[in-house]
Amino acid sequence: MIDINDSRIEFALSAVRQAASLAGDIQQELVSEALTKDDRSPVTVADFTAQAIVGYLLEEKFPGAILVGEENADILRSQEEKKTLDQVTGYVSRVIPGVTPDQVCDYIDRGVDDPGDSYWTLDPIDGTKGFLRGAQYACALAYVEGDRVQLGLLGCPNLTPDLREEIWGKGSLLVAKRGAGSWIMELRDTPKINGFIQLSVSTRSDPEEARLMRSFESGHTNISQVDQFQNELGGQADPVRMDSQVKYALLAGGKGEIYLRLLSPSRKEYREKIWDQVAGSVIVEEAGGKVTDLDGNPLDFSQGRTLKNNRGICATNGLLHIEALEALRVINA
Ligand code: AMP
Ligand code: MG
Repeated sequence: MIDINDSRIEFALSAVRQAASLAGDIQQELVSEALTKDDRSPVTVADFTAQAIVGYLLEEKFPGAILVGEENADILRSQEEKKTLDQVTGYVSRVIPGVTPDQVCDYIDRGVDDPGDSYWTLDPIDGTKGFLRGAQYACALAYVEGDRVQLGLLGCPNLTPDLREEIWGKGSLLVAKRGAGSWIMELRDTPKINGFIQLSVSTRSDPEEARLMRSFESGHTNISQVDQFQNELGGQADPVRMDSQVKYALLAGGKGEIYLRLLSPSRKEYREKIWDQVAGSVIVEEAGGKVTDLDGNPLDFSQGRTLKNNRGICATNGLLHIEALEALRVINA
């Protein structure tokens, strides 16, 4: 059961629900027009808006808490970006009536901390490319104590609570607390004690039946190795291409068995950012799955803003983890 009266959970549910709902509004209102012009401004507006909302709510509830956010307001404070700041302020004022542009910048900069012994971390819009394509993205917030993720939330405006893709649909809100399972509800509903459905990973244990998930963006993975991996495993289905931590949500809910983040051949040195993995990984673990790096090591969230000690990610339903790591070893991933 998820205790919605626990003060951290209450804050996190409210923050992600409001931030992701506004991001959904922004995608709906601004993206279709921008798509034709190769204009990235809608995702910029959504990123800043979502981080401002979370920064504001955290400051209200836990003034001393550390927030490691992906964004900062430096560019937004410049004269050239005045129009963007006005747009962001307009959206933020839907949640905080009367907010000023300066306050908006301060709320965004509430997230410029470095990780400490315990910290919150936020990816306001994870999957910016998906956001712009009118596809999947998520608002991801998590709470880490030491090297253990205690709480993880994903707001997924284009995923239904029964884990179907539905663009501009009901949306879903996922939450996992260490030791208390992974749960999902409708994004725009008010959280109720019995309003969550528990998630559990799939029970498929035959590698040939494994459904594999990978980044939509080719530059975020290694496509030829994904194919080699699939051959090695004997998997029959084509890998699902999808943006953002929504892939972790599908894995947690049994809609896929393996999620890989292989290193792109042009960025072998790339190390994952904590906010890209932290919420999704605890959601998968609490749903019964397993998450390690490509060498089978646990993810080490105590190393600052990146997973310095880990190479890539291998996440599975648990039943196929040993096979997946073995296939990665064979193909030398
Ligand atoms: P996805 O939508 O699964 O491709 O993941 C999106 C995340 O990938 C973004 O939030 C980026 O932080 C991250 N990313 C950016 N460049 C790379 C890269 N070269 N390899 C892996 N991930 C990357
Ligand atoms: Mg991201």
